Amino acid sequence: RVALRKKVTISRAPVVSPSFKMGFSSQTARLEGKVALITGAASGIGKATASKFISNGAKVVIADIQQQLGQVTANELGPNATFIACDVSKESDISNAVDFTISKHSQLDIMYANAGVACNTPPSIVDLDLAVFDRVMNINVRGVVAGMKHASRVMIPRKTGSILCTASVTGLMGGLAQHTYSVSKFAVIGIVKSLAAELSKHGIRVNCVSPFAIPTPFVLEEMSRIFPGVDIQRLIEITQNAGVLEGTNCEPNDIANAALYLASDDAKYVSGHNLVIDGGFTSFKTLEFPAPDQVH
Ligand code: NAD
Repeated sequence: RVALRKKVTISRAPVVSPSFKMGFSSQTARLEGKVALITGAASGIGKATASKFISNGAKVVIADIQQQLGQVTANELGPNATFIACDVSKESDISNAVDFTISKHSQLDIMYANAGVACNTPPSIVDLDLAVFDRVMNINVRGVVAGMKHASRVMIPRKTGSILCTASVTGLMGGLAQHTYSVSKFAVIGIVKSLAAELSKHGIRVNCVSPFAIPTPFVLEEMSRIFPGVDIQRLIEITQNAGVLEGTNCEPNDIANAALYLASDDAKYVSGHNLVIDGGFTSFKTLEFPAPDQVH
């Protein structure tokens, strides 16, 4: 009887979690053993994503132009976060951040080119200062291309990698932001498709996320220019009220969840994709008819 019981115990199938059966990886450590480099991660979406990646088992290098805040963020996120100063508009800084990641962790699995700015550009094309246009493009477009270039340099020999960047709903539709920012985000979505075409043959996936408005520091700066003298809490409300999905708001963590999916092996066959996180905002426009009793 003892022998039989023992046999039954030994032959029992290992416990398989429902998520594994469905083909998804463990919910707790979807980036175990992976190394990520995230630009613009001292704050906002980049910081939320760094935190999400670390809680899923990754080691993360935070690259940002804000040295003090970047260091504070890295300390807050714990021993699996490291900060490196980096201005994405300088190719040598990006190259250096990639080399630093390799020298510290011996590999780069995930490159998230997230840094971006708006830079107080005017709403009308007539007033556009092309020097400011160049500055925004240098960060939002050239910075992303440089990030992808140097990540590819180290990912191609390993024949694996996931490259992400942050586009925006303003890169899908005109009229949602001033021209310079909007044009830069249209470009980011184009970069993803162009690079995915080349890098697919090296086993590297390239994707982007397109968030709706979230009241992070650069958005609140823009909002305070549009609504001078209005207090911060009201600016946050105005930003959030622009959404269409009732009962919730777009938050950095929503974008971090999308980035986690795209970075992980759960998205192992997803490339050239723009994952839009907008509560449906860019998917529909409802017809606004007058009330029936107003129509004669
Ligand atoms: P944020 O202001 O919280 O973070 C932006 C970070 O980028 C900051 O830490 C900043 O120091 C860094 N940065 C700026 N210029 C840099 C440079 N030259 N080199 C390196 N780092 C630099 O804002 P966020 O909302 O988290 O923005 C992150 C990305 O998300 C941006 O690309 C932005 O365009 C995009 N985005 C934001 C929203 C939104 O509503 N918040 C919506 C769509 C897309």
